[in-house]
Amino acid sequence: MELLSNTKNGLYCEVADVYIDPWRKVDKALITHGHSDHARPGHKHYMCHVNCVPILKLRIGKKINVRGFNFGESIHINEVRFSFHPAGHVIGSAQIRVEYKGEVWVVTGDYKLENDQVCTPFESIKCHTLITESTFGLPIYKWATQDTIIQQINQWWAQNKADHKISVIYAYSLGKAQRILKHLSHDIGNIYADNSIYNTNNALIQHGLYKRACQTLNPESKDLDGALVLSPQSSSALNNISKHHPMSTAMASGWMATRNKRRNRLIDKGFVLSDHADWDGLLEAVRSSEAERVIVTHGYQSAFARYLSELGLRAETYDTAFKGEPSLS
Ligand SMILES: [Zn+2]
Ligand SMILES: [Zn+2]
Repeated sequence: MELLSNTKNGLYCEVADVYIDPWRKVDKALITHGHSDHARPGHKHYMCHVNCVPILKLRIGKKINVRGFNFGESIHINEVRFSFHPAGHVIGSAQIRVEYKGEVWVVTGDYKLENDQVCTPFESIKCHTLITESTFGLPIYKWATQDTIIQQINQWWAQNKADHKISVIYAYSLGKAQRILKHLSHDIGNIYADNSIYNTNNALIQHGLYKRACQTLNPESKDLDGALVLSPQSSSALNNISKHHPMSTAMASGWMATRNKRRNRLIDKGFVLSDHADWDGLLEAVRSSEAERVIVTHGYQSAFARYLSELGLRAETYDTAFKGEPSLS
């Protein structure tokens, strides 16, 4: 019997009777982070990193039964020892280490290696078997540094402002929105956020996990000229504003690295900013884990596993319920 196996409910540890990021309702769920493809509603007990607790309550419901743990803290369930470790993906995100009778597995969840100065940076954990995501597991995906991309966004915004246009950036409400809001040059102009981003930030601010406040988007506002608006997607509020103000739109996502994706989305500009590891980051994470066996999931699993096999590693794939493209990754 494997320590972790891929079941119809999701990744399962039979000895402990616990699931990791299950996609069907279960009794006990260990959650890597608050994104909706990992943290689903309906489980009886949730366990996650302490910083993820307010995010799960905001997104799933105040009344869920959830317990938070610090990084490295041991959770013993039927002789299995579980612990959370930084994944550097978004606030509250964690890798999960599973140890039983000397055998160690690590489930990365989503992760990136660059320190975004918003969440706790990724830490490599040694293990025998690594289960890694592979959202951007093709060699075409190579990220520039966060500083470089933030500079590009500042320049684009300043130019739009000079042209009396509103700058709209589509960015995920948990992750990208906090990075952009924290690092952009606030001297350029006013920054507004769509409700979902505003509410996420407020929950994080209330729990001392984030500092940068911003205003909600009010279509009546007089200060929209030259402003920047953060939103997870286009909305009726934005449509209304666009009737009265010229607007330039952009998307911040790793998918912006490929030109077709930009063209398909009818946006003016793409910023290649991702909360996931690029190709080199994935390889670095695999190498530094010193795992002898790698199970690839959640993305380009076949391509990435094939490459790892060519490097002489024992590599396999798990299919997941995460079908379709997480477009703002
Ligand atoms: Zn995620
Ligand atoms: Zn994910």
